[in-house]
Amino acid sequence: MISDKMSKSLQAAICIRDIFEEGKKLADIYGKENIFDFSIGNPNVEPPAIVNESMIEILKTEKPLALHGYPSNIGHPDVRAKVAEYLNETYKTDYTFENIAMTSGAAAALVLISNTFLDISDEVITFSPYFWEYKSYVESLYGKLVPALCDQKTLQPDPDTFRAAFTERTRLVFINTPNNPTGAVYTEESIRMVCDILREKEQEYGHPIYLVSDEPYRQLAYGGIKVPYIPHFYKNTLVVYSYSKALSIPGERIGYIAVGSDVDGFAEIMAGITASMRYLGYVNAPSLQQKMLLKCVDASVDVSQYERNRNLLYEGLTAMGYECIRPDGAFYLFFRALEEDDAKFCAEAKKELILLAPGSAFHGPGFVRASYCVSYDVIQRSLPAFQRLMDSYRK
Ligand code: PLP
Repeated sequence: MISDKMSKSLQAAICIRDIFEEGKKLADIYGKENIFDFSIGNPNVEPPAIVNESMIEILKTEKPLALHGYPSNIGHPDVRAKVAEYLNETYKTDYTFENIAMTSGAAAALVLISNTFLDISDEVITFSPYFWEYKSYVESLYGKLVPALCDQKTLQPDPDTFRAAFTERTRLVFINTPNNPTGAVYTEESIRMVCDILREKEQEYGHPIYLVSDEPYRQLAYGGIKVPYIPHFYKNTLVVYSYSKALSIPGERIGYIAVGSDVDGFAEIMAGITASMRYLGYVNAPSLQQKMLLKCVDASVDVSQYERNRNLLYEGLTAMGYECIRPDGAFYLFFRALEEDDAKFCAEAKKELILLAPGSAFHGPGFVRASYCVSYDVIQRSLPAFQRLMDSYRK
């Protein structure tokens, strides 16, 4: 009934969906509080109070027809100006409202960009392990996603695999830092390396190659670590941002794309993104959520709660002998499975009622991802189960 493309993509998606469904079944049997569900990345820190307060105020004060009517496809000009002002203050950029397109979160932004740039069989490189939905975003538009494996010891981009991933069909590179699934924050040195190679490849192929910086976890970085602002390092960068994680509102769907005026083909790109909003059926980012940003553009969840979770889980697992690379951001810990087959390891973990996502689902075989956006108490109570799991492999 459905297209071959969709059938294949449903098969690939089964893995994560299965874990999620399995979790619900286990919760019915053993009680929700006894399941250590580290499988999905749904924020668990409360949104800042100003989010609800400002929405209520807007609903009380704005004229309903103006608030609920169609805004421009690209977004309300005052909201776009507010985002530009925030970015200029924070990163010393020189955006105006014309550089900002409001989107229904980062997912929509990445699809809009893919639709704007890709012809059939055009290629998008991304550093793997990567957020598994990138493949569907690109391939549903008949493009091809090409993974460039990160260094397995540091989880930072690797110059050799990156260089080898280019062809003359490469149009875009997706970079995601802080990273899902690894929690790695790419260092300034890594970013410079990536940008140098991009410039080299632009020269070699004689056309622009755009770097798409997908940064929904930008605010979630720990221990004072700096997340480099990528447009400072590479002119042809499109920044994709989302408030899903920074404000704990993934159900509300709000984010933006920022494109500098000096990016090659700036006017055409903004026109393409705007048209794609209509063609792909997004039409515009939700109007109430856009207006909310007039008050909340610089708000943030209490990031220290995630940092506390990170410390407890990382230190707990490392002390038991799990091989973990300390994540500096996002809310994911990516660690080596205790056997080669990461799916089998996840099945063993499930016997201890620990739910993990296999690294293979993110193009990172041999690893597993633990999402620590759960309560501190769940992590504390999960540690003995992780210990039993380790013991079962040492027998
Ligand atoms: N990019 C990455 C790396 C993500 O982890 C996610 C969601 O988890 C998204 C994009 C999509 O986020 P949004 O809710 O803003 O669409």
